[in-house]
Amino acid sequence: MDFDLNEEQIAMREMARDFAEKEIAPLIEEDEKEHRFRPELVKKMAELGFFGCVIPEEYGGNGAGHLASVILTEEIARVSASWGLPFNVQTMGPGTTIVRWGTEEQKQKYVPALVNAETLGCFAITEPNTGSDVASMETYAVETDDGFVLNGSKTWISNAHVADVGIVFAYTDKKAEPKYRGISAFIVDLKNTPGIESRPIETKLGLFCAPTGEIAFEDAKIPKDSLLGKKGGGFKICMSMLDCTRLSSAARAVGVARGCLEESAKYALERKQFGRPIADFQMIQDQLARMKVEEDTARLLVWRAACKKDRGERNTLEVSMAKYAAAEAAVHAANEAVKIFGSYGFSSEYPVERYLRDSKSFQIVEGTSNIQKVIIAGYVLGKRK
Ligand SMILES: Cc1cc2nc3c(=O)[nH]c(=O)nc-3n(C[C@H](O)[C@H](O)[C@H](O)COP(=O)(O)OP(=O)(O)OC[C@H]3O[C@@H](n4cnc5c(N)ncnc54)[C@H](O)[C@@H]3O)c2cc1C
Repeated sequence: MDFDLNEEQIAMREMARDFAEKEIAPLIEEDEKEHRFRPELVKKMAELGFFGCVIPEEYGGNGAGHLASVILTEEIARVSASWGLPFNVQTMGPGTTIVRWGTEEQKQKYVPALVNAETLGCFAITEPNTGSDVASMETYAVETDDGFVLNGSKTWISNAHVADVGIVFAYTDKKAEPKYRGISAFIVDLKNTPGIESRPIETKLGLFCAPTGEIAFEDAKIPKDSLLGKKGGGFKICMSMLDCTRLSSAARAVGVARGCLEESAKYALERKQFGRPIADFQMIQDQLARMKVEEDTARLLVWRAACKKDRGERNTLEVSMAKYAAAEAAVHAANEAVKIFGSYGFSSEYPVERYLRDSKSFQIVEGTSNIQKVIIAGYVLGKRK
């Protein structure tokens, strides 16, 4: 794709491609079967500077930027959507959010450790009764003399049961008007706080190498300095975090779309029916051409949103467009890939059935495709600015 990447970005892309081929690809089918998460792989990604792109040097990052980050994410997700997740839960989510909203002490304490993967991160918004409607969350934190007491439960949290630290959103004022102004954000030590329990969700459709789980808070006492930003400022913090995590998910979706196209083109040239490669059939070419256009469109939208962020501009609309286009492109590409592979597409011998299962997550996470359209339409109609 024509786009002016600098030498550093091109070198980083090559490095990520190489890492994905050497460190992830050889074991991915076995890892998937075992639903295996390998923390040592997150550490290796950290050592290569993967999570430092969006973090300034003073907090352990390399400052390469959001465009570099989405390029790396795509390369990893092209091989495994699961292994694209650490970008989100290390620095695109918690890392950037603490850099933006945290005190100097919080930044020093948490951000370098997320960048080098000494600690594993997560962010917890979703609850059993709360998905798209974030302000309907029920988890609450009562302020005491020496901190807060958390009660409630979060579900479908990426990294829940493996994370050391999480950004947890909870009501501190249930009477606030408008009600979202009653939400606060907390940086919570998930491993060493009595009253916090987490467990994996074992019933997932895909992303088998990316942990997902539930976290329950029962009279969990957290210190005063766990408050992130202002009391009541949690909703704003949450939305600013989603601008970053959505972008990262969009980049993963582009990786999956590309994987589907590359595998499909290869298979179409090899597989013969009616005495010739199925690639000769115009209907197959039509499928491949559409997949290609959708993949490139999604990537351009992702890169545009990333460049806007790197220029220091707000990119909520661009991120929602990128996330929506990339999620739909990935699902469509995976669906077409399974068709092109015929019965082999229905088999775990080839990666396309995994791509199909994994791709569905992108229409849900970080705001469903419908929610992205609600945001986009809000801008189109002048209701958002
Ligand atoms: C693999 C995976 C990982 C995840 N990781 C995390 C994580 O790390 N942290 C976290 O907090 N959450 C996480 N989630 C949760 C995810 O963010 C939510 O599932 C998502 O926001 C949707 O919420 P819901 O599932 O409750 O769906 P609901 O909000 O109940 O939506 C159900 C349906 O209604 C539609 N809908 C809802 N409201 C509207 C509306 N206003 N207009 C039109 N349609 C609407 C939705 O589009 C959807 O089709 C994860 C989910 C998955 C599957």
